[in-house]
Amino acid sequence: MSAKIIDGNALAREIRSEWKSHADLLIERGMQPGLAVIIVGSNPASSIYVRNKARACDEVGIHSEVHSFPENASQDEVIARIRELNIDARIHGILVQLPLPNHFESSEVISVISVEKDVDGFHLYNVGALVTGNTVFPPCTPFGVIKMLEKNNIAIEGCHAVIVGRSNIVGKPMALMLLERGATITICTSKTRDLAEHTRRADILVVAIGRPRMITSSMVKPGAVVIDVGINRMPDGSLAGDVDFESVKEVAGHLTPVPGGVGPMTISMLLCNTIAAAERALARI
Ligand code: NDP
Repeated sequence: MSAKIIDGNALAREIRSEWKSHADLLIERGMQPGLAVIIVGSNPASSIYVRNKARACDEVGIHSEVHSFPENASQDEVIARIRELNIDARIHGILVQLPLPNHFESSEVISVISVEKDVDGFHLYNVGALVTGNTVFPPCTPFGVIKMLEKNNIAIEGCHAVIVGRSNIVGKPMALMLLERGATITICTSKTRDLAEHTRRADILVVAIGRPRMITSSMVKPGAVVIDVGINRMPDGSLAGDVDFESVKEVAGHLTPVPGGVGPMTISMLLCNTIAAAERALARI
């Protein structure tokens, strides 16, 4: 068997063009959606993500601003800027690029973002909304995974979904979003005994570990949907996922590549959340 490869680039473009019409309508009504991205320090990977986000915003007509701070900036300075952006009527989404330098307490910084502008969905209010099934801003990476499943007509209800990784930005929200849609969930971590025993039982396997090519074909049930969230920079500069693409594609039913899988979807879902935030702001006027 050879898996159907899910093209994240094509799907992300399709979603952007769907949402561009929402942005165009807002602009006609005098409200251009606006996104502010805060970046502290000069982590090269973060700088690339921020540049890609700005480019994607331009494509759909979102005004975007990057607020850069030096590595030694104080948490108070960054918080003061977030407070200004909270009351800036041109800005509907505020995103703090993670990770922040070690002298920052990320949760304190995120807690200052207005819940109406928290387009990453990491504010505790929005986390609570997700837990209770009243999601306002679905976190962008798992939201992108859900869209990939939906656009490929992959049924979630009743299936067994196994998620490898329990981070607050991928694993946990992914589990909640699949649970909400009726899947039976297993979450695996670095402490899981016999990982393969769990992954082999997955109808849908979502992998977010951060270790290159760790999931091999013997760990996958024939015909399973395998979603590779991992992005690992290899010594030769290339990117690899957490799934061993070449062997797993012979076993899985569907598989996402890296690059060109979940990564571009994450950015498109950020744009959707920003446009949705602007629509809600307009409805409040
Ligand atoms: P974290 O480091 O926060 O979490 C990794 C998780 O993997 C942890 O829960 C950890 O378990 C688990 N883990 C580590 N080793 C093993 C193991 N041997 N067996 C089972 N579980 C293990 O990473 P993130 O969730 O932030 O990111 C994961 C990957 O996804 C990274 O490669 C990252 O670059 C990528 N990523 C991609 C995005 C995209 O848009 N495509 C967006 C965000 C992240 P424990 O908790 O026990 O330590």
